[in-house]
Amino acid sequence: MNTPELCTYMTHGAVMPFCKGCGHSNILKKLNDALVKLNLNPHDVCLVTDIGCIGLADALFDKVHTVHTTHGRSTGFATGIAVADKVLASDKLKTIVLIGDGGSMIGLLHIVNAALMNVDVTVIVANNFLFGMTGGQTSSLTPEHFNTVTSPFGSMNPSLDICQIADASKAGFIARKTATDKDLTDVISEAIDFSGFSIVEVLELCTEHGTKRNDLKGNMLLKMAEEEGHKIGVIKNSPVRPEFSKKYETDVNSHKGEIKPLKYINPKFVHNLKKPNGIIISGSAGERVQSTAAMLAEAALMCGLEVTQKNDNPVTQGSGFSLSEVIISPGEINYTGVASADYVIVVSENGLREIKNQDIFNRINDKTIFIVDDSLTIEKKGLNVISLPLRKYCGGDKAAVGAVDYVIRKFEPFQHNAIKLLLEKRFGEYEKIFKEEYYKL
Ligand code: SF4
Ligand SMILES: [Mg+2]
Repeated sequence: MNTPELCTYMTHGAVMPFCKGCGHSNILKKLNDALVKLNLNPHDVCLVTDIGCIGLADALFDKVHTVHTTHGRSTGFATGIAVADKVLASDKLKTIVLIGDGGSMIGLLHIVNAALMNVDVTVIVANNFLFGMTGGQTSSLTPEHFNTVTSPFGSMNPSLDICQIADASKAGFIARKTATDKDLTDVISEAIDFSGFSIVEVLELCTEHGTKRNDLKGNMLLKMAEEEGHKIGVIKNSPVRPEFSKKYETDVNSHKGEIKPLKYINPKFVHNLKKPNGIIISGSAGERVQSTAAMLAEAALMCGLEVTQKNDNPVTQGSGFSLSEVIISPGEINYTGVASADYVIVVSENGLREIKNQDIFNRINDKTIFIVDDSLTIEKKGLNVISLPLRKYCGGDKAAVGAVDYVIRKFEPFQHNAIKLLLEKRFGEYEKIFKEEYYKL
C-alpha cells in the first residue's frame, strides 16, 4: 500500500497490478517519487504508455494526463505531444514514456528519432529482458545465454545496448539503473528535468517468466549488464544542444520572410447548385486527369462553392490509370469521396479499366451522366452515356480537360466563365485550345 505522501501523482490507494516481485512496481513508485520531488503541476505531466505490463501504469496515475498507445509507438506519440505543447500550447508539459524492452525494440526508430530531434521527452525503458505480457519471449534486449520461452537453451545473440544507440543518436541524458537502486528517484527526476531528450533504462526482474527460467536475483542485474559490456549509472548528462522547440523557433523565425502567404480564392462568378455534385474523372497517367480536376476545383471555388478533391493513381506515378473525385457543393462537405456520382468522365482505356476495378458502377444513381470518349465501349446497359470524340478533338493530353469543359458548358453547375478563365491562363486563347469541331459539340 502506498503511503499518502507518495500518492501525489498516483491514484490514492492504488494497488500494483503486477506479479509479486515484478520490477514494474518499483519503477512506478520511483517515478511517482521523482514527480513529487520535482513538484510538477500534475496538469503539466503527460505519461505515454506502451503495450505490455508496464502499460498498465495509466490506471495508476489518475492525476496526470495519460495516453495509452500502440506497441512500440509510444515514443512517436510522445514526440508529437511534446512538440505540439512546445510550439502550440503552454510549453510546460513534461512528457514521459513508459515502455518495456519489447516495445523499445519494436519502436526503436521512434526512440532514435526523438533523440536526434532532441525533443523534450523522457523515455523510461523497463527492461526485464523479455516480452512479459505475451508469455516471456526473447526481445533484442535479452542478454546472451538468457533463458526465455523462445530461447529455452539460452539466447544465442548478445543484447542490444539501447543506451549506446541513444548515445549514437546524440541523446543528451542517458542512464542505466536497476529498479531497486536507491538513487533511481534522483536519476528519473534529473532525466525529466533535463531540457531535451533523456532515456533511463531500468534493469528489473520479471518474476513470472525471467526468474523462473534463470538463476537470477535483483543483485545480479548489474553484473549481468557488465558482462554484456553495458555501462551502468548516469552515462551522459550534457545539455549541449538546444531542445527541439527552441531550434524550431529559431529556424522558423529566420525563414519567416520566405514563407509564401496562402492563396485565397475570392468568388467572382456564380453557381446554380442546390445540392452537392460528385464528378469522377478517370483516364491515363500523364494525360492531365488530376490537374484537370484541380482546375475544376479552383473554378468551383471561384464561384463560391465548397470543394474537395481526392486523387488516385498506381504507385508508378507515370503509367497506368489516373483518377480524381471532385465534389462541388453549395454547403459543407463532410467526406472527400464521391458516394454517388453525378458525372463520370472516362477518357482512356486505362480510365475505363479503373472504373471497373474500383466498381464505380456501384457508386452511381439513375441520373448519373457518363461522358465517355467514343473510342471506348461501356458494356453495362441502361446508363446515360454521352459518347464524344474527345481524344480526336482535344488530343489525349487534353481529353479530360475537354470533357470537364463540356460538362460545365452543357450542364452549367456554375458559370462557364470561371473554367474558361483558368483554361486561358493555362493554354492560351479559349477558342484555340481544342480543334474547331470540339466547340460545336
Ligand atoms: S508477467 Fe512479468 S512483467 Fe508482467 S507483471 Fe508479471 S512479472 Fe511483471
Ligand atoms: Mg519486458
